[in-house]
Amino acid sequence: MRLLILGGTSEASALARALVGDPRVMPTLSLAGRTIAPVLPPIPYRIGGFGGVAGLVDHCRSQAIDALIDATHPFAAQMTDHAYRATAQCGIACLRIDRPAWRPEAGDRWINVADMSAAVRVLGDVPRRVFLTIGQQELAPFRAAPWHHYLIRSVDPPPPELLPPDATIIAARGPFAVEDERALLIAHRIATIVTKNSGAIATAAKLAAARDLGLPVVMIDRPASPPMATVPDVAGALEWLEARHAASIRRGV
Ligand code: NAP
Repeated sequence: MRLLILGGTSEASALARALVGDPRVMPTLSLAGRTIAPVLPPIPYRIGGFGGVAGLVDHCRSQAIDALIDATHPFAAQMTDHAYRATAQCGIACLRIDRPAWRPEAGDRWINVADMSAAVRVLGDVPRRVFLTIGQQELAPFRAAPWHHYLIRSVDPPPPELLPPDATIIAARGPFAVEDERALLIAHRIATIVTKNSGAIATAAKLAAARDLGLPVVMIDRPASPPMATVPDVAGALEWLEARHAASIRRGV
């Protein structure tokens, strides 16, 4: 089976590792190329966009792809939409790994919002010290609220033209520990955290630290996904692949 994995998440990397040495699968991992030094997988990989739905259709046809697993970030809504539409056009099996979203616990002070602009509005007119952990692509809306101080953490330093004027940058890749997150929040006298509900274990420690310190968290809710077959984790994706292998044997292919 020729399998295309759309990556950028720890689940995509774990799936790639799990498939090493399985003679039934010829996997390729596709990365968007968002980070300067991505964690490279132990399987064949490609980096960069396909060129929209049409480009992904061409890629699947030219590479004789049999199945696609979309293990992109929960906020990579465009890529997921393209995967859904391209696989439907090609008649290729498609599965999404959609890790569970974080859920508030007792003591959490979450303010749920739909998008970045709403997050900016929630911060209000009074200057605050804000910890932004939203990646580096969607910082521009915060330029509309230049009276806040922003502590911005992303894997690579963000492009300067996206930054609000009063910003401190930390380039770091998770996982992060709760004690370190608490120390960071205290050291920078953070009053509010803004984050996307990625559901990632590696970056959940800031939520526990915010709970300990009684800090509000502006939580950006996930975009909607197309109605595709979905599993919550890599184990589910491996079961899906096993079922496809079993079905191929029954069909004698
Ligand atoms: P997106 O808006 O869904 O995708 C934009 C375009 O990037 C896609 O149309 C596609 O280009 C290309 N692309 C995305 N993922 C790809 C992949 N795995 N392989 C090949 N091309 C890919 O996604 P995004 O711009 O990457 O990010 C959107 C949100 O996801 C942001 O909030 C970001 O912080 C978050 N996020 C993304 C990643 C990641 O690795 N992509 C990681 C962490 C967080 P074409 O149309 O040309 O095919």
